[in-house]
Amino acid sequence: SEAVERHEFGAEVGRLLDLVVHALYSDREIFLRELVANAADAVDRRRFEALTGGAPAVPEGAAVRIIPDKAARTITLSDPGIGMSKAEMAENLGTIARSGTRAFSQSLAEAGPADRPSLIGQFGVGFYSAFMVAERVEVTSRRAGGEEAWRWASEGRGDYTLAPAAREEAGTDIVLHVRPDAEEFLEPIRLRTIIRKWADHITVPVLIVQDGKEEAANEGTALWRKPKSEVSEESYAEFYQHLGHFFDKPWATLHWRAEGTVDFHALLFIPGMKPFQPVEGERESRVRLHVRRMFITDEAGLLPSWLRFVHGVVDTEDLPLNVSREMLQSTPVLARIRRAVTNRVLSELRTRAKDAADYAAFWENFGPVLKEGVWEDAEHRKDLAALLRFRSSAVEGWTSLADYVSRMKEGQEAIYLLSGETPEALAKSPQLEGFRARGVEVLLLSDGIDAFWPERLGSFEDKPIRSITQGSVDLSGIAGGEGAQGEAADVSRLLPLLRDALKEEVSEVRATDRLVDSAVVLAAPEHGPDLHMQRLLQRAGR
Ligand code: ADP
Ligand code: MG
Repeated sequence: SEAVERHEFGAEVGRLLDLVVHALYSDREIFLRELVANAADAVDRRRFEALTGGAPAVPEGAAVRIIPDKAARTITLSDPGIGMSKAEMAENLGTIARSGTRAFSQSLAEAGPADRPSLIGQFGVGFYSAFMVAERVEVTSRRAGGEEAWRWASEGRGDYTLAPAAREEAGTDIVLHVRPDAEEFLEPIRLRTIIRKWADHITVPVLIVQDGKEEAANEGTALWRKPKSEVSEESYAEFYQHLGHFFDKPWATLHWRAEGTVDFHALLFIPGMKPFQPVEGERESRVRLHVRRMFITDEAGLLPSWLRFVHGVVDTEDLPLNVSREMLQSTPVLARIRRAVTNRVLSELRTRAKDAADYAAFWENFGPVLKEGVWEDAEHRKDLAALLRFRSSAVEGWTSLADYVSRMKEGQEAIYLLSGETPEALAKSPQLEGFRARGVEVLLLSDGIDAFWPERLGSFEDKPIRSITQGSVDLSGIAGGEGAQGEAADVSRLLPLLRDALKEEVSEVRATDRLVDSAVVLAAPEHGPDLHMQRLLQRAGR
């Protein structure tokens, strides 16, 4: 008809569709997870908008319905959610504006073919995954609060159409015209298995409709509200995978109920694996806030950013359901929850740190993030210092500040550290010569953040923390290193000559105990950035 508009996809969408359909072929059952998750999100969003007065209420008994039709070779997903206006359809289904899909597309483009399958678990591949099983997709939607319905349709190639349509209530129907090689997905049993595997924890009921009968496909219980004794390790792992798109087991599962000054249920996970770059770049905690089971937001900052690798849900009775954004920022309830949840995670880390091998697995994934807390969080700085682990010039594996202090030499006044690019390069640095000769241990730091936090921490167990590239290091109180002694007299005559020759280049030239074999070494002034920091600043163009 005349009213049908034809639109080109954004260039990125074409590429993403191609990748999704071809690279992920063997995992295509996840299309159902993606579409059901979107439908459940839409119901949650409508419920939230209704409470704050923006949309008509979600009807009683709201559910996501999945209707396979073998004769027509279609699968229809129907939800009474927030729906989409014409403009929202063009934006959401015609471009790559959404974060999950954008990050996925970026990572897929950067990953080698061997890494691609593991990326699926990492990101929601979103709406476009429908084209893995469908040769044509039609979306009919009516925005809650809006008057008209529109139909979006595409064969997943270069373009899509938009046309006026009819829908009595707000919500969305998605019709998948199943590809000949995907007919297995027309079987209700197959659909149910996929839902149980991927979407069991969705709190909106998911029904499979067959011969006019509806059958519940998901359990739909809020797992975090169940007593611990009733939750199997498998259910925890499935929920964890669902939350963060992970495919391994969590390193830690924290499930508890707080009662007293503040009431809440919490279920948190520390991942067993490190997420890919685009996710890591994000700074805010994404722990989900629910009020009386209902999802409110994942932007409440329930944990400090240096614990942003923690995933999970906090569900409280102590906030009203129609909590507003402003209220979320100012309410003391949230501040109390934040404090309790942060302390609980720290105490878990302290306990697990007692088993060095176990803790190393965590540390290697998230140590650099935790170090940010030493830099920016005065309140937890001391607690965090005890959780830090380091490579060292004296011992294999990881070591703590407490262990370092217990090994300090007679007469040694400070905790020494050297930071730079890689532990291998650091271990070979001439800066270490004098320390090695005297048997003085030096911690070797090679994370980007290492240039910043030591100065903030300042000391540990009353021992000052010092970069060995900074200022004059006095090792004279420590026995050993005789190799360097005899040459001191000659150096005193050489110093003025060097000072004169290098006066444009360096601010000072002096004798040092730092060296044994090497003749000279660069050092930073006593105050201000150490050498590693100076290099970082230089690179940043300052
Ligand atoms: P994401 O879910 O990560 O945002 P998707 O590709 O899965 O990305 O979905 C893109 C967007 O399309 C969603 O954010 C949402 O705005 C919209 N959308 C998809 N399905 C529905 C639906 N059933 N009801 C309302 N909006 C939807
Ligand atoms: Mg989605």
